[in-house]
Amino acid sequence: VETEKVLITTSAGRILAEDLSAPGDLPPFDNSSMDGFAVRAEDTRGATKDHPARLVIVDDIPAGSTARVAIQAGQAARIMTGAPLPAGADAVVPVEETSFAPLQAEGMGIGGQTVEIYREGGPGANIRSRGSDVQQGQPLLKQGRRLQPQDIGLLASIGRPDAKVYRNPRVAIFSSGDELVRPGEALGPGQIYDSNQFVLAALLEREGAQPVNLRTAPDDPAQIRARLDRAVEESADLIVTSAGVSVGAYDFVRQVIEEHGGLDFWRVNMRPGKPLAFGTYRGIPLIGLPGNPVSAFVGCLVFVVPAVYRLSGRANPAPPLVRVTLEESIDSDGRESYLRAVVTRRGGRLSARLTGHQGSGNIFSLVQANALLIVPSGVKSLPIDSEVDAWYFDKE
Ligand code: AMP
Ligand code: MG
Repeated sequence: VETEKVLITTSAGRILAEDLSAPGDLPPFDNSSMDGFAVRAEDTRGATKDHPARLVIVDDIPAGSTARVAIQAGQAARIMTGAPLPAGADAVVPVEETSFAPLQAEGMGIGGQTVEIYREGGPGANIRSRGSDVQQGQPLLKQGRRLQPQDIGLLASIGRPDAKVYRNPRVAIFSSGDELVRPGEALGPGQIYDSNQFVLAALLEREGAQPVNLRTAPDDPAQIRARLDRAVEESADLIVTSAGVSVGAYDFVRQVIEEHGGLDFWRVNMRPGKPLAFGTYRGIPLIGLPGNPVSAFVGCLVFVVPAVYRLSGRANPAPPLVRVTLEESIDSDGRESYLRAVVTRRGGRLSARLTGHQGSGNIFSLVQANALLIVPSGVKSLPIDSEVDAWYFDKE
C-alpha cells in the first residue's frame, strides 16, 4: 500500500515507511543528571563532611536556561537536573552532599554565598554528556516497524512532528450463509447469529487493517458476486470471506471465484481450517475462510494476518510462540493441528491442557483457551509431558 504522513499524535501502531536516523545528538548538550552544584572536580578532591571543600557560588542555572559565567578555581554554580553544564565545570555534586540540602527556591539570591561540599566529585560525575544516548547520524528506527509509544517519544525527542507511515490496508469482510442473522435481530427457525464477521473485523483491526464490513450474503451466487463487486468499489486491498468454501451443495463462494476470478488453491493440510480458498477477484487477493467459527479464527491467524502484515509494509513479526509441556496426552490426525488449550505457569515452566471438546463450531472453548497448541504435520500422537509449541494469546 501507499505511504502517508501522519502527526506523531496519531501514529501509535502505524507502520513506519522510512528508515530514521538521528539528525543530531541526544542529549543535545552536556547537562546535569542531578539537582546540585556544578564544580571543578579537582576542587572537591578529598572532601568529606569533616573536611568539606568550600566553594563560592557564582551562578544559578535552572533547567531551560544557560550559564552566565564560566566556573573558575574555587567556584561552583547551583544547577538543576537537565540544565546545561557551565564551562569550566566537569562534575556535579548532588545537593544532598552539600550544606545546601534541601534546596530552597530563594531565586538568584545565592550568588556570593559559600557552599560546603561533603564529597568528592570525580571528573564526569552526574553529567549526561552530549550524544551519550544517541549520536548524530546513528540509525534509530527501521522501515516496517510498528510504532510503539516509546518510539513516538524518540520521534518527538529528535524534533519530528510527523512520521511517514504506510496506509492501513483496507480489508473487505463478509460472511455467507442463509442461516446467518445479525446480532440485534430476531432469530427465526434454523437460524444462528453471524459471529465470524465480528471476530475477523476485530482481529484484523487489531493487526492494523481497516475493516470494511460488507455484512452477510445469502447462499446465492449472484448475491455473493454483488458483495465481491462492492469490495472492488470500496477499493479493498484484500477480501476475506467466511463460509461457503466447503463441499456443501450451497457452498458458492469458491464457485463464484472460480467463474469470475481466479482460484490459486483450495484446501490446506491443517486442522481446523482445511477448506480454505485463495485467489483473486478482479485483481484483488481474496482469502475464503471456512465457516465454523474456530476454523475461521485459526485460518485468519495463520493466513490472513500475515497477508495483512505483508500489505501493510510491516516487517513480519514471528508468531508469539512459547514451548509448553503437555499435562495430558493428545491425539491428532497427522495434519498440522491447532488445539485450544489453557497454558499456565507451573514451577518455572509453562504447562498446557486442552479446553475440552475441540469441535470447530465451539466458540466458547476458544474463549476459554489462552493458547493454541500446534501439533506439527505428520505427528499423530503426543504423550503426556512432551513439549510442543503454543501460540500464546496472552503474549500477543
Ligand atoms: P459452511 O462453511 O458454510 O458449511 O459453514 C460451516 C458451519 O459454520 C455451519 O455450521 C455454519 O452455520 C457455520 N457458520 C458459517 N458462517 C458463520 C458465521 N458467520 N458465524 C457463525 N457461524 C457460521
Ligand atoms: Mg454455509
